[in-house]
Amino acid sequence: MILRTEDLMSRGLVAPERLDELRRVAEKFAVAVTDDMAALIDPADPADPIAAQFVPQAAELETAPDDLPDPIGDERWSPLPGIVHRYRDRVLLKPILICPVYCRFCFRREQVGKDDGVLAPAALDRAFGYIREHPEIWEVIVTGGDPFMLSARRIAAIVRRLDAIPHVAVIRFHTRVPVADPGRVGAALVAALAAEKAVYVVVHANHPRELTPAMRAAVGRLVRAGIPVLSQSVLLRGVNDDTAVLEALFRGLVAMRVKPYYLHHPDLAAGTGHFRLDIAEGQRLVGALRGPVSGLCQPTYVLDIPGGYGKAPIAASAAERDQRSGIWVIEDSAGCKHSYPPRSDPAGGSN
Ligand SMILES: *Cc1c(COP(=O)(O)O)cnc(C)c1O
Ligand code: SF4
Repeated sequence: MILRTEDLMSRGLVAPERLDELRRVAEKFAVAVTDDMAALIDPADPADPIAAQFVPQAAELETAPDDLPDPIGDERWSPLPGIVHRYRDRVLLKPILICPVYCRFCFRREQVGKDDGVLAPAALDRAFGYIREHPEIWEVIVTGGDPFMLSARRIAAIVRRLDAIPHVAVIRFHTRVPVADPGRVGAALVAALAAEKAVYVVVHANHPRELTPAMRAAVGRLVRAGIPVLSQSVLLRGVNDDTAVLEALFRGLVAMRVKPYYLHHPDLAAGTGHFRLDIAEGQRLVGALRGPVSGLCQPTYVLDIPGGYGKAPIAASAAERDQRSGIWVIEDSAGCKHSYPPRSDPAGGSN
């Protein structure tokens, strides 16, 4: 069952006096919480990290001066509905704008959860036409919304059509379903992902409590079908802005054969200012993991540059060049500095 605003109150997940506030948020942004996620919420904890992600708050009604309606500038790069083509070799294909849950910090919150949530068949045909006509497209990232909210039959049709385009080598799905509604990742969905081409699945997970036995089982079904599974997480104040929480999250993922891929700095989505932290805080958090924690557990910390300029890695660099001598200074995980020579020029110069 999907819980909406009133259900959250009747389940005791929000106090009755907050219902009015929730209704006002729900008029602006979609609200849904799956049973699986609701079961993880401790109603007695006002700072519960799962509730913070899914239960609306009055703070969402506040728009900060930095907020943007299209925080990562997708619109600029959308040649037709359902396609975002920002990078030469890959496109986003968005067949659906429905999700199993609506994350309160979502960067596409102005688009997801509306009534016309599924791309019409004619528009989907045009999107496939675009991919066919652009031989530089090597990878198609099926996202949304959440593509695993489509029926297995529709997912199979998308995979089949992409599989048949010779220049498409890689098909990647971005989804929150294995976390939010793991029961959906059944035999039919797994079979729908079978292809000649490489199919990758990237799961969105932000807190170690999301890594339930049911989620682990869903991931296991994907992995046993030969699908490499990666993860992406969003760094969020009040959810995972803590080294121990990030460490537990990434260790938990790796231990279930999921490779942490990206840790996203929060985007400037409307009404999400309360989730934001400074880049310096993020650099400190991810810097503390490097060294003591297995390299498998280190995602790339990235920012999607507002305005549509793409993603950039923003972890602090360990390498700095001394301007005068040209010698590199490298900082180790304990904070000690070491020099490393610049490549010496056989002709005698030193840069
Ligand atoms: C994030 C994103 C991608 C995927 O980027 P990777 O670095 O390959 O994961 C592709 N297109 C757009 C528009 C994106 O925002
Ligand atoms: S699942 Fe993804 S697209 Fe959907 S609300 Fe959450 S962050 Fe946004």
